[in-house]
Amino acid sequence: MLSPAAVLIENDKIKAVGAPSKVQAPSGAKVFDLGNATLLPGLIDSHTHLLVDPITPAEAERARHYNGSFLPGLLLAIIESPSKRVLMGAQLAREDLESGITTVRNLGHSGIDGDTELRDAINAGRVPGPRILASGRKLITRGDYIQSLNPALADAILEQEFLLIDGTDRARQAVRQNEFHNVDLIKVAADENLTVPELTAVVEEAHRKHLKVAVHAVDKTSIQTAIDAGADSIEHGNEVTDEQLKQMRGKGIFFDFTPTSYGDFFTKVVQGIIAESLTKRAERLEADQRNRQRYSDLAQQVLKSEFVHRFSASDNQLYNTLVQRVVKSGVKFAAGSDMGWYFPGKTRGQASVSRFPVLHQAGMTSLDVIRAITTNAAEMLGWQDRIGAVEPGKFADLVAVSGDPSADITELERVRFVMKGGQVIRNELQEDQSK
Ligand SMILES: [Zn+2]
Repeated sequence: MLSPAAVLIENDKIKAVGAPSKVQAPSGAKVFDLGNATLLPGLIDSHTHLLVDPITPAEAERARHYNGSFLPGLLLAIIESPSKRVLMGAQLAREDLESGITTVRNLGHSGIDGDTELRDAINAGRVPGPRILASGRKLITRGDYIQSLNPALADAILEQEFLLIDGTDRARQAVRQNEFHNVDLIKVAADENLTVPELTAVVEEAHRKHLKVAVHAVDKTSIQTAIDAGADSIEHGNEVTDEQLKQMRGKGIFFDFTPTSYGDFFTKVVQGIIAESLTKRAERLEADQRNRQRYSDLAQQVLKSEFVHRFSASDNQLYNTLVQRVVKSGVKFAAGSDMGWYFPGKTRGQASVSRFPVLHQAGMTSLDVIRAITTNAAEMLGWQDRIGAVEPGKFADLVAVSGDPSADITELERVRFVMKGGQVIRNELQEDQSK
């Protein structure tokens, strides 16, 4: 931490950092005086899904699906036009960037090449967005992700979204299929059907091409499979044991926190969606006072009801112990929003960034929260030479907040200045003064 400080940028990289008296700006340099703001490296969201935005349906609709967890909205994303989907991805990417997220790791649910094409379009300057590390299709075993598909077409539909692992040969082939689309890493969803030899084959094949392997693993068995196969990061990791943390530390495997539903997140999402649809309905009935009153009464009842609160049952208690155990274990950690949800009233960027301060609520120091989405994340991505710190040689990816985020971590939700690769994306702090 340095105060006061100046940063000299040349083209898209940082050239010098230091006390303002030591950093000499050449004549003709554009000067941005950010006053008392705190400058930070651009934020890194290590786990997101820019090409899905499903609306959580009502409980009745969930109950009709036997596992109750995956959503009609996800199915729509697969069977609707990929063009429509990638344009939505472009919007969500821009919204992430405007909230200070200058790099994301996009871990699946993008169709065959939605994320790699979005990455390339951003890099080519066609649309604004963060730097993207794209995983391409998620590798899964034949499980219960999506139900009730037309059996005659099921494989064709599934293969637009996933690559199925079935034996070690098929596992290697899945990695190569993703390589063909120029992915930056491999994402695997581990469950109890996935064997250690299958995942080991994935890891070997990916590492041969210098791609890291991020493994979704929630239960204890899947976490052990990921450890034994030598994954690079474990996503979620909810049921990790202390013994497994020790093994992860020994092997240098990253723990990627995804506190998506911490702090009644889904309650707020569902309440917002219900309120939004009832409000729209009431607007359509504007002429009819009595009906309007009926709908607004109904909205109140629904918002108070038990089912809305059950959405949030998951993470609060879990995270309050998980965060402290992981940090204490000495395992390397980062964090991602795992955002893939429509949040009424918030942009995708606002919804994503709101997931990081909750780590502090769950017991992480503010500085560790900042590290989890800057320096630590950069190392997990293998991009520690490019991003994650305000240092000479790194990309000029910077954000500024008005206050001191080490004292109030929620400052991260109020980013006032965003720069990516030396380009100002947003500046609510001060007009530039050319020298
Ligand atoms: Zn995810």
